[in-house]
Order: sequence, then C-alpha cells, then structure tokens
Amino acid sequence: MLQVTINNEAREFPDALSILAALRQLGIEVPALCHDDRLQPCGACRLCSVEIAGWSRYATACNTPLANGMVIQSHSSGVEEARQTLLRLLAGDYPAEAAHEFPEKQFHRYLAQYGVLPQRADPSARRAAGVRPVAPDSSHPYIRVDMTQCVTCFRCVRICDEVQGQFVWQVWNRGDATRIVPDSGTTLRESSCVGCGACVDSCPSGALEDQSILDFGVPEKWTRTTCPYCGVGCEMMVGTRDQRIVQVKPALDAPVNKGHLCVKGRYAFAFTHAPDRIAHPMIREENGEWKEVSWPAAIAFTARKLKGIVETHGPESVGVLGSARGTNEESYLAQKFARVVLGTNNVDCCARVCHAPTAAAMKEMFGTGAATNSFDDIEQARAFLLCGTNATENHPIVGARLKQAVLRGAKLVVIDPREIELARCADIHLPLKPGTNVALLNAMACAMVEEKLFDESALGKRVSGWDEFREFIQAFTPEKMAAVCEVEAGLIRQAARLYATTKPAMCFHGLGLTEHQQGTEGVMCLVNLALLTGNIGKAGSGVNPLRGQNNVQGSVHMGCEPGSLTGMVALEEARTLFESVWRAPVPKAKGLNLMQMMDAASDGKLKALWAIGYDVALTNPNASVTAQSLNSIEFVVVQDMFLNEIARQSGSVFFPVASSFEREGTFMNSERRIQRVRQAIEPPGEARPDWEIICDLARAMGKGESFDFNSPEEIWEEIRSLWKAGQGISYPRLEQGGLQWPCPAEDHPGTTVLHKESFPSGPRAPLQRVEFLPSVETTSPEFPFLLTTGRTLCQFNAGTMTMRTPNVQLRPNDTLDISAEDAARLGVGESERVRVRSHHGNVLIPIRISPAVKRGELFATFHTSDVFLNRLIGSGRDNVVHTPEYKVVAVRIEKLSAVTGRC
Ligand code: SF4
Repeated sequence: MLQVTINNEAREFPDALSILAALRQLGIEVPALCHDDRLQPCGACRLCSVEIAGWSRYATACNTPLANGMVIQSHSSGVEEARQTLLRLLAGDYPAEAAHEFPEKQFHRYLAQYGVLPQRADPSARRAAGVRPVAPDSSHPYIRVDMTQCVTCFRCVRICDEVQGQFVWQVWNRGDATRIVPDSGTTLRESSCVGCGACVDSCPSGALEDQSILDFGVPEKWTRTTCPYCGVGCEMMVGTRDQRIVQVKPALDAPVNKGHLCVKGRYAFAFTHAPDRIAHPMIREENGEWKEVSWPAAIAFTARKLKGIVETHGPESVGVLGSARGTNEESYLAQKFARVVLGTNNVDCCARVCHAPTAAAMKEMFGTGAATNSFDDIEQARAFLLCGTNATENHPIVGARLKQAVLRGAKLVVIDPREIELARCADIHLPLKPGTNVALLNAMACAMVEEKLFDESALGKRVSGWDEFREFIQAFTPEKMAAVCEVEAGLIRQAARLYATTKPAMCFHGLGLTEHQQGTEGVMCLVNLALLTGNIGKAGSGVNPLRGQNNVQGSVHMGCEPGSLTGMVALEEARTLFESVWRAPVPKAKGLNLMQMMDAASDGKLKALWAIGYDVALTNPNASVTAQSLNSIEFVVVQDMFLNEIARQSGSVFFPVASSFEREGTFMNSERRIQRVRQAIEPPGEARPDWEIICDLARAMGKGESFDFNSPEEIWEEIRSLWKAGQGISYPRLEQGGLQWPCPAEDHPGTTVLHKESFPSGPRAPLQRVEFLPSVETTSPEFPFLLTTGRTLCQFNAGTMTMRTPNVQLRPNDTLDISAEDAARLGVGESERVRVRSHHGNVLIPIRISPAVKRGELFATFHTSDVFLNRLIGSGRDNVVHTPEYKVVAVRIEKLSAVTGRC
C-alpha cells in the first residue's frame, strides 16, 4: 500500500502506478498533451508536471511512478505558471481559427483553460526560421491532414508505431523546423497508411481530423456498440447527429480492441445512409418487376406461400438460412422458426462455408467447437503458429496485437502459400503449396515425435491414442512431405522445434486451413500439434479460430445448424428440454445443410428458401451451378439491407432490415465473448430488425404463442433458459461489459481459457490419425496455375457494406495477384484485365503484380459482383461438413486482345 499526500490530503493506493494515474483516480485533472493511455508515457510536453516536496525540479506526472511518502502539489502556482508558459510557446505558432472550430479538442480546451490565445507567426518569419508552410493534405478519403495545427506531441507517430505497428508517420528535421510526414514523403494516400485512424483518435490538436466531422459536424450523441464486421468483436462508440452516423471511435476500455479499430470498424459506416438502401418490403410481380407493398401484405403473402408449400410438399421442402450479420437473438429465432413453424431441421448459416470444419474438428477432439483461449492471451504467449490466416488484413486488431507481440520478442511461424504481411515479420514462413495443410502439419508432428519435442507429462495425463499416433505419424517425415508441400524439410523441422519448445505457444487459424476438402481433418492435425506439445488449457496457448464475420460463431451456436440446437448440443441430446420450453415438437428428420439445400434445389426437392442476411448467389462456389439451383426454387424470401445478388437473381419477396447500428441485441465474437449491440440511429423508412420480422411471420403462420417477444432481451432470456453455458449471462451483466462462455451462473466471471483440467468429453483428448488426400484441383498443361481466394483489408465479403463506403477509394475492385516472373512470361502488366478460366467458369479481373505470390500460384479477392470470382470455384467440399474448397482451384490466364478486349 502506497501512502502519499496529494494537495494536502493523505491518500492510499494499493498498486504501483504513475502520479498521473493516481491523480486521475482521484478526479484531479492536470493537462497532459503528449499522454495517451494506449502509449508508453514519455514526459515530452511537460504540461503534466507536478511539484513534489524535496525535489529540486518539477516531475512529469505521466512517467514518474508514485512512491511511498511523496508529498505532491498538482496545481501549485509554480506548475500552473509553467503550464501557461508551455502553452504560450505552443500557441505562438498555431492558427487561431482552428481553436474556435473544435473547442472540445484537448489542446484547445487547455488554451481556453489557461487563457492563452493562439497566434500564428508571420509567414515570412516562419520561412526565415526554416519552417516551411505545409498545405493541408486531403488525399485520404477519411483523414484530413493539416500539419499547420501540429503541436509536435508525436502521439500520431507513437500510436502508429506502438499500437498499429505500421510506422507510417515519421519525424523530419529538428527544432522549429520539425515536421511530421507520412512515409511516402508526400501525401497520406500514397503512404503505407492502413486507415485505422489511431493517429486521428490520439491527435489532441486538429492536425489530424476525421473528414466525416468536417463534412457533417461533430456528434451530438454517442452510443456504445460492437463492430458489424469481423469476428474479432471490437467495441466502438458511434457518434450521431440528426439521425446520421458522423464519427466512430474505439471504446477505450474495450477488452478486445483496447482503444483501437481497423479501417472497416472505424470508417466504413456510410453504407447505413446509402441511397440504395431498401426501405420498404417488396414482392416481385409476374413481369419480374419489384413492387413496394405494406408490411402486412408482404407478411401475409409470404405466410400463405410457405404454408402452401409445406402443405403440398412437406416441411422438408423449405430451408432457412440464418445470418452471421444478425444478432444471437435473431439467429436463435431463425432456427426456432424453421423447427417450430415449418417443422424442419433444414436450417444453416454461413459457418457452413467458413469454420464448420473448425467446429466439427474441435468438438470431436476437445468436446467444444470454439476457441480455447482469449485474445488477451496474445500478450502472454511466447510463440505463435498461424495457419491459413492473414490476420493483419482480415482480423486487423488481432493482427496488430500479434505484430506488437512479435516486436516485443515473441516468436512467429506462419503457414501460408503467400508471403503475407505477418510472414514478412515471422521467424519462419512455410510457403506451402495450396491444399497440402494436412501433409505439412503431419510432417511437423512427425518431427516433434522423431526429435522428442513432445511434452511427456501432457501426453501422459491429457491425451489418448499416443501409441497408435506415434506409429502412424512416422510415415510423414518432413523429408518425404517436402515434395508434397513444396517446403524444405529443414524449414519444417525448424518450425516444429520453435513451436514445440517456445512455451506457451498459441495457434491461430483461418479459412486457409478450413476451406479445403480436408478442412476438418486439417484442423484436427493442428489440434494434434497443440496436444503433443502440452499447449492446451494454459494461458497463452490453445487453438484459436479467427471467425470471419461478426456473429458467425453466435449464429451457429444459437442453432442455425441442421444437426444442433442452441448451445451446439446434438438434437437428440436436448430434444426433451427444447420441446418443454418451446411447447412444440423438435422435428426428427435429419436436416439439410446449405450445400445439401442447393443440391436438393437442383433436384427439384427444395421449393422455398428464406435467406436472412446471406447473399448465397454471390458467395457460394460454382456460381453458375448455384444460380441454377436458386432459380429452381419456387419461392425465395430475401431479407437484407440491399437488393443483393440473390434477390436480383431469384428473389420472390424482399424484407428490408435494419443495420446493426439500428437495432438492439448481442453478438458473440471469436473468443466466445457475448457483447451488446445497441441502437444508435433509426432504420430508414419501414426497415425493421430481423427479430421483429421473424416474429410477425410466425404469428401469420399461426405460431404466435411461441414467438411472443417484445424485445431482444426477452428472446435472450429464453436462450439462456435453454443454454447451460450461457445461463449466467444476463443483459444487466452485459451492461458492465462482455462475458465469455461458459458462464453458467450469474456470479460466474466467465471463462477465458477452456480445458484447464479436463475436456467436456473426458480427461483426455484423442490424437487423430489423418491420411493426406490430395485435392482434385491439380494443375495441368491446360490449367497451369493454382488459385487461392480471400478477403482484403478494406473490403468485406460480398462487399454489400464496404462497397457502399469510401473504402472503394482505398480498394476499388477485385484483383488477381500474380508474381512478376509469371506476369512477364505471360506478357501481362499491372492493372491489365485478363480472363481467368477454370474447369467451372471464367471471370475478367485486373492483374496486380505482387511479390507475395509464388510462381505458378495466384491469389484473388472475391468482393464484387462485377468480377464474380466464385464462378471459378468448383464443387469440391470438405469430406466431413461439406465446406466448399474455395482455397484451391486450377486455372489458366488468357490475355485479352488489345483491339476487341476478348480472348
Ligand atoms: Fe471491426 Fe474486425 Fe476491424 Fe475490429 S478488427 S474494427 S471487429 S472489422
């Protein structure tokens, strides 16, 4: 306990902390211009200086630790005078008009508080002093740079280095001539800026400002909510004015993102105000035209059609697709609707096309199909094994945290065909041939066994099947697998040694591991490595899938899965409980998953589909086959914000929905954390939250008593009455912050690390013996390239949201990445449009020459319907859960004729 005297009062503090933190705990404000809680304190501006009895100089409060017996004066006349002098010096070269424009800015507040008037020096005097006037830079769509307002606190430089790890801002010159410039030396747009906005968020003076508040004014109201994009689940403050989102800032105390956001979360919100938002329900008329109708008419029409189809063809002729974009409450209602109202288990969600293999593999081996650890473990891990995840682009906040951990000395192994950003800062990069994850991971396991790198104590206590596995894995020596994976055996052995001996070590994986024919088995092979090395059940270890969409984990966990009910329990295990709460039977017939629904549609067996927030037409593989399937369905209900591809191609009815900024509920992120989603603005026109629409349709179909909900909280109460591991998570508790399940009681703190002592399935997890099966997609003289596909930082999945924001200026279109050698050999240049052809279809796409891609391989993004990349993807599926093989396709490139633009 530290005992000190502050401003003549005796105080006690239990922990070591800085003087500034102690003052803030007491509610005593001192100015601090260079300080930001997200940064290492540096004491550069000296405004926070305080007087300490017995000290011969003032001490900067931000970086002076509080010590026992200190007698501190925070506002003595001496320090106040010093502060005023410092502010006067800064204000001596500051544009007066800026201080009036945004009086709430930190520097402007200090000027007003200390009665200091800003005064810009005469331009000729500035030139004589070597200070070149700097014109404002408006090149970036989101960030206005006006370094005439810079007070050289260096917070932008430091936050870019210490939080984002991008090193964009640089300090040039010294003294009065000091300038902060982007690494391009010219404009921010041309720099390596990733648009996270951390520099803007930290800047105290207005030198860096969000363009949105210059355009639309400062927010009048702030609402805390959770990001609508990826599965990291960052919490954000949404600033609104006149029912318009004008600014988004990171929630400073958010456990996941710790005061940071990426370019999507921070800036890509303009889609909510897009002119083509659909604001009224519509029915497609016989002539193919959409006609706006009232909600009662749309609901009655849909209820009549669905009832008729169920009566004529049976409940198995209808399918429901829940949405990873919707809340947990809405996903729960979607699957309840399928089971209670339609009487079918034909319900699925987009987890089918991403992490269903993860859930299956981890459930089989651990008994729980979800991340074993938490993002906060990143700071505790000493090594990372990343497999098929481009985290800095697809899960940027996790990517930034990983980069910072590596900068602090953690070891990193990256398994990825491409030299992605994290591969460039890795200790070992294993650039495997696409489709060979199983061979490579087995080779690492073999090296661990051969070199006795395994953890004997963990094998003895927590693992089963060791003898059989040891025998089996001998066939996968790195030397044999090197030819299969196209990675040197020595490198595979080095990676095995590094992961096995630097503990604790944490695995992260993404769709580069799951979207393969052996996706589920690939995840099993990764889990094998964690089990062999004892990296389970401890902080800083584990196997951690990075989920693609904000609520994909929640959607499947709430029961949008044909074989499972809420909580991922098998139908048969939980039937009695659910039937008692629902007061309705749970259908017995086996349900179809998304891919099986498409097959049933083309066989003429699926007659109706309700696609909630899921553009199957654009995102499913083998787009022409998908289109045929969808067009075979008699009645397609589309529920979305925009007239998406599935609506355009096959929609019969369109229900317009509220965005996540316009509704209440909860999301579940990749680390099993349930967080609140809160309404910041009203939805446009008659658009409504999904849960209201589902309840209305259930009522219209005669099942109103099971859907009698007045709020998402009421739905949540029913969910937690059925879901044991979530029973302790209530809305009032969530007001204090997110909670990670299992959280079985209201006094339970939630669980950060799973499987500490045992697994739900027992004391031991079984090692899996997985044979390697080569993909059917192989190169040939006709199709000499292997193509992999994926997302890019500035765009998100089907582009429905990000393509309607200024992110298009940062990343306007899909691209085909190719090595310089292959481009030269084919005579194709940067930005040149080429035709890419596979066995399944062809697309036109511009070239991007990239050093990240190896010869003979290609990488393409899939965000736009202009390119429609999924035309190239075949019908290969995961052997266990049918996830499509998006990550390997054999293609060729055809150069277009300069005259006709044709091949
Ligand atoms: Fe949103 Fe993901 Fe970016 Fe966080 S990392 S701001 S959750 S898109």
